[in-house]
Amino acid sequence: MAAVPTKPRRRPKLAVWKFSSCDGCQLSLLDCEDELLAVAEAVEIAYFLEATRAEIAGPYDISLVEGSIGTAHDAARIQQIRKQSKVLITIGACATAGGIQALRNFRDVDGFIRAVYARPDYIDTLATSTAIQDHVKVDFELRGCPISKEQLLEVLNAFLNHRRPVVPPMSQCIECKMHGTVCVMVARGTPCLGPVTQAGCGNLCPAHDRGCYGCFGPKETPNVAALTKQFAALGRTDGDIANALRSFNANAEPFRAEAQRRETPPHRVPS
Ligand code: SF4
Ligand code: SF4
Repeated sequence: MAAVPTKPRRRPKLAVWKFSSCDGCQLSLLDCEDELLAVAEAVEIAYFLEATRAEIAGPYDISLVEGSIGTAHDAARIQQIRKQSKVLITIGACATAGGIQALRNFRDVDGFIRAVYARPDYIDTLATSTAIQDHVKVDFELRGCPISKEQLLEVLNAFLNHRRPVVPPMSQCIECKMHGTVCVMVARGTPCLGPVTQAGCGNLCPAHDRGCYGCFGPKETPNVAALTKQFAALGRTDGDIANALRSFNANAEPFRAEAQRRETPPHRVPS
């Protein structure tokens, strides 16, 4: 009996979009060297300018969005991307918290522009850098600066198989315990944001005897005020503490609120 011809399976269309960012989180996908072929077999890469100039029109089954919204053009473009995407996943600190560029949210952006650029009139920017979820509905946020490629693979696998991703919102401290890393804060008095930072990097800094700088952003229910009280007991000034919280995830609410509480008087940008 002749075989019944079967319709070829349509692979889900994957798009990778960039907004204000350094491209490092997109690079994490290309960095999946051992797994990249399996990813390319599981999905149709429809739009990913860091990997290919080929562009396939939407709609897209999964969109990965890197970067923050920093211009009026960005704000309009993300609305279009949301309309074309069944699932929208934000990747990295820029997309989930505004990134380093959100430091401008706390100062006079015109002062920065005048201080930095020879031709300020060329610059067309919003006064703030904000997370993607401040503009459109987001289905999942993947933290990190940059993201972990293992977590990215887990999230893609989960959405392709219609299950919840296993990305626990636990703190870096739990990773220290799991790796047997001696606590740098308890043993050496080194300030560490690990107690309030979400795990995911693989315990990178404490394992090398350094405190965590918080690049994976706030963990679930962080007690930032209790931690900064401990930083103060270790001799750190309010300015030091505000600066420690103002890095990759400065605009994430728990870090932003505590930095603002500690910051006296506010610094000024030269005009
Ligand atoms: S080194 Fe930092 S992350 Fe690790 S247990 Fe101590 S405070 Fe927590
Ligand atoms: S320990 Fe903290 S600062 Fe270091 S890589 Fe991990 S999240 Fe980033």
